[in-house]
Amino acid sequence: MIKASLRSHLTLWFAGLSLLTLVSVGFYVGHIATEQMKLASGNALLSTARSTAALLAVQLRERQLEVSLLSRAPVFRRGNLDDPDILTSMQLRTQSRAEYAWMGVADSDGHVRQAVNGLLVDQSVKARPWFQAGLQGNYTGDPHEAVLLAKLLPGATGEPWRFIDFAAPIRNAEGQVIGVLGAHAHWTWVTQIVDSAVMQKGAAPDVEALIIDSDGKVLYPEQLAGEQLPQDRLSNTTGWSVDNGYVTSAVAVPSPSNSSLTWYIVMRQPLEIALHPARVLLYKLLLLGVIAAVAFGFVAYYLALHLSRPIEDLARSAKQVQDHQPGAFFPQDHFVLEIAQLGQSIKSMTQSLLGKERELQETNASLEAIVAQRTAALTQANAELLNLASHDALTGVYNRRRFDEKLAEYSLLFQRSARAFALLLIDVDHFKRINDTHGHAVGDDVLRQLAQLIQQTTRATDFVARYGGEEFAVLLPEIEAPDSPDVVAEKIRTAIAGAHFEWVGQVTVSVGIGLVEASDSDTTVLIKRADQQLYLAKSSGRNRVA
Ligand code: GH3
Ligand code: MG
Ligand code: MG
Repeated sequence: MIKASLRSHLTLWFAGLSLLTLVSVGFYVGHIATEQMKLASGNALLSTARSTAALLAVQLRERQLEVSLLSRAPVFRRGNLDDPDILTSMQLRTQSRAEYAWMGVADSDGHVRQAVNGLLVDQSVKARPWFQAGLQGNYTGDPHEAVLLAKLLPGATGEPWRFIDFAAPIRNAEGQVIGVLGAHAHWTWVTQIVDSAVMQKGAAPDVEALIIDSDGKVLYPEQLAGEQLPQDRLSNTTGWSVDNGYVTSAVAVPSPSNSSLTWYIVMRQPLEIALHPARVLLYKLLLLGVIAAVAFGFVAYYLALHLSRPIEDLARSAKQVQDHQPGAFFPQDHFVLEIAQLGQSIKSMTQSLLGKERELQETNASLEAIVAQRTAALTQANAELLNLASHDALTGVYNRRRFDEKLAEYSLLFQRSARAFALLLIDVDHFKRINDTHGHAVGDDVLRQLAQLIQQTTRATDFVARYGGEEFAVLLPEIEAPDSPDVVAEKIRTAIAGAHFEWVGQVTVSVGIGLVEASDSDTTVLIKRADQQLYLAKSSGRNRVA
């Protein structure tokens, strides 16, 4: 998943959605406008075509009526087709109306008897459709070229001119057909009627007016003459249709006399031009869409900036807190309520987190202190225990266990290096009596003071231990004079005898001396020897050395 900032997300979404909205609206409106333009163009064309067709129909009917009425004039009914009055009345007609190129009478055999300006007189028109039809009744024909007539007309260039023919039968007083009155009108007269009708309607300049014959062939304009238009387009029920790049409307021109003349007036306008305003509208809407998208994008960007900046700040600050970096700042003032709340919440969360962390650190520190303290206590207890293992709890001198070890050590040394040593056994005289008289606690005090006195009177290298009860043992590694065992023993005895003991006063001891001998099998022998000496000292009166 691609991760982009909130800012880019908002900008893209805003711009994209506004573009999408406006483009779809643009296309929809453009579509509707196109349909409306087609409808408007089609209706306008239909209206123009209708009025043009109506005008043309009236004009054709009038000309047809004119010829028909003239053929029934009294001068024709007299039966003499060479009557000069006929020529006069024909001349009057053609002079009053410029559209007539030719007017004349032909007898029932098709010979032209009289004609305005004498044109075509004595020539046969028997094969002409207008003559054939004129014998039967009133006739209005399709346009046709007439090279012969064109050459005879004033101002003619010899190019084929086109005419439409009107004809009516001439009857005598008895009602017999004796000839045909024919008139040729300039085709340009018709086209001018159409063009002026279109002009009168004020149709758009690009609107084309076409005249189509009953077979669907183009009669006018000249440059399209002979082209075929599909029949179905002429009989369209809605009045207009769209195809081949044109909006086209076709209206039939009512026939003035017979059914042979069924023209259509077709109005058409290139679709491109008819829809031009709709297309311009669509382009404008699309342009507006793009401009709006850019504008929305900018607005969204700045909006997103205001929305996302505090969130980015929060994210950065949270990262700083995570990395234990200083400078974390949580903004709490924001116009979006949730962002402000987020800032406050993260700030209080961070504070409580940091508080907990500090508490934890403090707890750790105090725990470490406690551990150190306990370790020290343990070390001390161990040391005390170690001391207790080798020392006597009451007096503080070495205990019996340590004494046994030391004695064994000295015996070994003696066996190896013949380093002689002596053992003094010291027993308090009548100690039982002290206990009995002053109590056990005073007895203990006496024992403590005795131990101190013995230690003070011996050397640091001498080994003093409580042997048991109220007996002490001293090992002397130096036995040469002046510190011979008896001297040391005597020194101890006199020091004790001379000391003052609280509550008790004087306390005396008896001392037995034992010297190590090479013959000793083990340490008990030495102890026994010292004990015997002690016993000797006791029995010889106490407070003495033996
Ligand atoms: P003697 O002169 O014959 O040695 O007489 P004595 O009273 O000292 O006789 P004995 O050695 O039989 O008596 C030792 C007494 O020491 C017995 C006991 O109550 C006392 N004693 C032994 N250990 C302790 C002690 O740790 N504290 C106290 N207060 N008295 C003790
Ligand atoms: Mg004793
Ligand atoms: Mg004793």
